Amino acid sequence: MLRPPRPPLTPPVHPPLVQPDTGPHDQALCDTARPPDWRNPQPREPYHLLVIGGGPAGLVAARGAAALGARVALVERHLLGGDCLNYGCVPSKTLIRSSRLYAEMRNAANFGVLAADEIHVDFALAMERMRRIRSRISRVDSAARLAASGVDVFFGNARFTSGDAVDVDGGRLRFKKALIATGSRSMLPPIPGLAETGYLTNETVFDLTELPASLLVIGGGPLGCELAQAFCRFGCRTCRRRNATPR
Ligand SMILES: Cc1cc2nc3c(=O)[nH]c(=O)nc-3n(C[C@H](O)[C@H](O)[C@H](O)COP(=O)(O)OP(=O)(O)OC[C@H]3O[C@@H](n4cnc5c(N)ncnc54)[C@H](O)[C@@H]3O)c2cc1C
Repeated sequence: MLRPPRPPLTPPVHPPLVQPDTGPHDQALCDTARPPDWRNPQPREPYHLLVIGGGPAGLVAARGAAALGARVALVERHLLGGDCLNYGCVPSKTLIRSSRLYAEMRNAANFGVLAADEIHVDFALAMERMRRIRSRISRVDSAARLAASGVDVFFGNARFTSGDAVDVDGGRLRFKKALIATGSRSMLPPIPGLAETGYLTNETVFDLTELPASLLVIGGGPLGCELAQAFCRFGCRTCRRRNATPR
């Protein structure tokens, strides 16, 4: 049976680089993952390899090629580290760790361990720990370190203008080979009322500083499940919604 075409999905707008109320760690993250005073280098064209996207894939490829002696440029439009560092693996796993500890504290008696009668959850503290760890890990893939490993780092939006050139915010970079490592972004599913109601995505949920009283997670894949479980363990009423249409 032919499936009807999917309605077009809209990507949400990128959040600002640093949220005003999330403390000093996000500023430190930006200082390494996108230094405010960074000047794009003078291009050494043509590049043997031009990498678009500074997530885990782009970083590994760029560093590897530079280590083999290639002339390499990497273009990132947002923050080095990509989803994994900024909106994915790192923040989610740090939060999961804190929430698991709360769950274990509540269950301590089962392990023959004495714990306080009342477990008080400090969500803001767990989020602050997440930001601290994220900014610390960002040093591994800092712009300065990447440049020191021989990669020319350009911040800006890459756009192909011909078969051997990209435009980066008005400047041209020529290349012999290009690697598109632009990853993925969450899309707004066509749920009536969603846009008007307001929503969080993986790009904004880690900016929370207060625990929401309740959270509806749309999507029952591993990421939706782990997020729902973590928030539930912090004491938030969570509800996970699976896609009703079988795939
Ligand atoms: C909540 C969550 C939890 C996750 N947990 C895990 C986990 O535990 N383990 C795991 O293995 N994976 C996990 N993932 C998946 C992991 O984050 C991704 O698989 C990984 O980040 C993909 O890396 P990438 O380099 O391909 O792309 P990305 O990390 O998405 O990086 C792509 C980069 O390209 C940049 N870019 C895009 N377009 C342009 C352009 N035109 N010009 C310049 N730059 C551009 C973007 O700004 C971005 O920085 C998780 C993801 C999420 C959302």
